[in-house]
Amino acid sequence: MILHRAADAARRWADAHREVVIICVALPLSTAATAWQRFKSLGAKRSAPGGHDARLARVKADVKRYADARRRGEAWAQRPLRTDRKPAASLNTRMADKSASQTVRMSDLTAILGVDRENGVVRLEPFATVGDVSQHLDEMGLQLEATIEMKDATMGGLVMALGMTTHSHVCGLVHDTVTAYEVVTANGDLVRATADNEHADLFRALPWSHGTLGLLVALEMRVIPASTHVRMVYRPFYSLEAYSDEYQRLVRQDAPPHFVETIIFAKDRAVIMEGHLAHEDEARASRLPVNPVNRSYKPLFYKHVESMLELGQGQRYEELVPMQDYLMRHDRSMCMCLAQILPTANEPWFRYTMGWMLPPNTTFLKGTRPEAERENTIRKQVWQEYAFPAEHFAEMVAQVHDDFEIYPLLAYPCKVIDKGGMVRLPSNRGKPYSGATETAAFLDIGVYGFPQRVKDGDQRYPAVTKVRALEQKARSLGGFLHTYCDVFSSEEEFLEMFDHGLWRQMRERYEAEGTFPTIYEKVKPEMDPLQFLAQEAAWEGNSARSGPAETLSF
Ligand SMILES: Cc1cc2nc3c(=O)[nH]c(=O)nc-3n(C[C@H](O)[C@H](O)[C@H](O)COP(=O)(O)OP(=O)(O)OC[C@H]3O[C@@H](n4cnc5c(N)ncnc54)[C@H](O)[C@@H]3O)c2cc1C
Repeated sequence: MILHRAADAARRWADAHREVVIICVALPLSTAATAWQRFKSLGAKRSAPGGHDARLARVKADVKRYADARRRGEAWAQRPLRTDRKPAASLNTRMADKSASQTVRMSDLTAILGVDRENGVVRLEPFATVGDVSQHLDEMGLQLEATIEMKDATMGGLVMALGMTTHSHVCGLVHDTVTAYEVVTANGDLVRATADNEHADLFRALPWSHGTLGLLVALEMRVIPASTHVRMVYRPFYSLEAYSDEYQRLVRQDAPPHFVETIIFAKDRAVIMEGHLAHEDEARASRLPVNPVNRSYKPLFYKHVESMLELGQGQRYEELVPMQDYLMRHDRSMCMCLAQILPTANEPWFRYTMGWMLPPNTTFLKGTRPEAERENTIRKQVWQEYAFPAEHFAEMVAQVHDDFEIYPLLAYPCKVIDKGGMVRLPSNRGKPYSGATETAAFLDIGVYGFPQRVKDGDQRYPAVTKVRALEQKARSLGGFLHTYCDVFSSEEEFLEMFDHGLWRQMRERYEAEGTFPTIYEKVKPEMDPLQFLAQEAAWEGNSARSGPAETLSF
């Protein structure tokens, strides 16, 4: 009894002093976890490229053994096949349950296999991370054509699911920069798919397929010469209409800036950023200040951007940012999620003493998240990101404001290149692929955090209903949801959002049906969010206020 009371008191104290607990306990432990991961990956990185053939042979043999056993009807081989990547390591909101699956050992496929300068291509194993690849290329004066801002994201995860960057208005999504996929199919055969070989249909179907057509064992991606700096231009805007119009104008230009990005700090306050490539001699000759924004003692990047709101109407600020700092500018703040998890992280005392510990290790955070907390993330928090035709930007921001009032919001540009796969131009959904390259300018908003009403203590805020309404809005506009987020769609709604026509053909052609799960099975949350709808409907019009909300959980 005494022990029980003490535990209860400790829990209440921890809830009331979340930031202290995070700073004194969670962050040091997460740093130790990161150090351990890095130590483990050192050896693997050194020996990796030469061992590719052996690793590939192992994957093929494992899948063949499974396929043979499956044909013989053996029970273990009736379980769906998945990679052995740890669920806690995946950068998404779910904690996938792989206990009923047959996993294939692949997580040691982390090598950078080679760089072909002449053709501007890097060949990689799928679990090479963005951080490792971009550092390796940087040493060679190169960079990925599309580098996302999270060091721990894997190249395979990005192309089999989704990757979007501030250069995506030019190059498309990360998978649009892939020139070849090497895949082990359900029968254990190795297939190399390119845009114009006999597996060209598979090449078009693999993006977004989430490992449901085969296991990716290598890929080739375009690289470009790296500039040393990015000349950043920051411009504040003080009305939704003004920044919405300007953002659309920028991404639709014939020769747009290399990078564009908008951070929205309130419905009528946003900063638009243009990033122009600057080479070393230009940087040396420039009188602009150089700002290594990603140093641990520097303000978190989004806070630096927020300070630009003080410039005033029609003003701009320019500076040079070293390229690697630019590419990883949102890494320390976990794409601005830290604004809610640990607001103290931007305080100078924190940055100068503990800033080097950022970002927290997401694998550690996810892995130590109590199961009960998952309901909390579904019912009280919002983890959503949508892309939609650019002309609907203002109405999407307005709906996010009306329903959630979560700020800051990250808004990325994205060119949708319709290749007849999962993501189509709205007018092409469900139609056969014409073979012609059709593109459309999309914009994208990431919404992470507590809705204002939850922060105000409303215990009856219908989060699932509101998220589904936003999802429905995006769907009706021809937009799509990022699948690393909470997917609150029913299967029918999901099929409506993503064109599964080509995917179904490839499932049949490569005999993937039954061996690999479906995409919806992989992306739906481990807890059914639709079960909360009836209760939320009963709350309609009622709100019950109590104390403030807890801390955001990843
Ligand atoms: C807060 C937050 C912000 C984010 N912001 C951005 C952003 O701004 N831009 C952006 O692009 N992304 C963003 N992401 C998403 C992140 O980059 C994606 O989750 C991405 O898919 C990579 O994650 P991962 O490497 O953990 O892949 P995983 O989640 O592990 O994999 C994605 C899918 O691909 C499958 N897969 C992976 N490897 C293989 C393989 N070898 N063979 C077969 N199937 C495979 C997996 O099974 C899974 O279904 C954000 C994520 C979070 C949590």
